[in-house]
Amino acid sequence: KITAELPVIRQLDDAAVNRIAAGEVVERPASAVKELVENALDAGARRIEVDYADGGKTLIRVTDDGHGIPAEALPLALQRHATSKIDGSDLLNIHTFGFRGEALPSLAAVGRLSLTSRASGHDEAAEILVSGGSAPVLRPAALGRGTVVALRDLFHATPARLKFLRSDRAEAQAIGDVVKRLAMAEPSVGFTLRDVSGGGEGRVLLRLDPCNGDLFDALLERLRAILGREFAENALPIEAEREDLSLTGFAALPTFSRGSAVGQFLFVNTRPVRDKLLVGALRAAYSDFLSRDRHPVAVLNIGCHPELVDVNVHPAKSEVRFRDPALARGLVVSGLKHALAGAGHRASTTVAA
Ligand code: ADP
Ligand code: MG
Repeated sequence: KITAELPVIRQLDDAAVNRIAAGEVVERPASAVKELVENALDAGARRIEVDYADGGKTLIRVTDDGHGIPAEALPLALQRHATSKIDGSDLLNIHTFGFRGEALPSLAAVGRLSLTSRASGHDEAAEILVSGGSAPVLRPAALGRGTVVALRDLFHATPARLKFLRSDRAEAQAIGDVVKRLAMAEPSVGFTLRDVSGGGEGRVLLRLDPCNGDLFDALLERLRAILGREFAENALPIEAEREDLSLTGFAALPTFSRGSAVGQFLFVNTRPVRDKLLVGALRAAYSDFLSRDRHPVAVLNIGCHPELVDVNVHPAKSEVRFRDPALARGLVVSGLKHALAGAGHRASTTVAA
């Protein structure tokens, strides 16, 4: 079609760019919680508190005791592609949850964001407020070491988006799942999850004390608190290695299976991932023991040099690509089969004795 006027190419302004990017980073309250808790973990927090109201739709607040942000750096933390975690020269060597510098500007684009922080070694705390692309306001604040990020009225400016959210209960459930997943990844960090709907002290939904000691002891203690005593009693420690990949975690005996995949928690270098390859490997490992309608319960972490896995596949970073997918699959299948066979052997010798 020939039109009198040609389309004009123009540069979008920052507010529009942030809103577009935010769509990929912040799908729902739970994705905001994920980004904020990951930031707290990246800051070396030992204790993290997550509060929310109305399924996270009116308030999400994450408080940590990590290294904090100096007042003068607060405006930069809200800028797009501003990060303290990489310098851009080595995208294959990532040791933190974050690295894209997108979470805070995205959250600021879809809600009212307040960021309060007191950096370690600093005497003063400061707060920065942004709402709906307006100019940020910086002011002094009172806070011990650490950071508090509060996100209010998520998607208030985009009613279409708001409509796609599920019930408060469903969104709250998703927030709980995110917190539990990250708490499994970091047993030495204490977590508290509170529903503060209606104001006041709120209702504590989850309190996880820091678990210390040996990696397996700490993880099992954390998993007992999250998945329950029965899981802990039926869990086999998993420890295997193949070339440059390692596999650690706990997998439940086939008798402790589920009717769906809800009990599968997979991590790569402690990053929670959803990965078809790994889920398939888990299924294959149990195939001799479980019927097709039963699903194994397991918490597994694949450890490797960051160069062997690409986490920069999607902004949410829950997809990964292994450099050698067959190796990763083989490790999971053989590591689990070995443990399950050993358990079967032990069980049969106990019966015989
Ligand atoms: P990224 O995590 O990818 O670096 P973010 O937008 O999530 O990007 O955060 C931007 C920067 O703000 C981080 O690189 C970090 O320096 C700082 N920051 C964010 N949250 C915290 C926090 N809880 N504690 C300390 N610093 C933080
Ligand atoms: Mg981040």
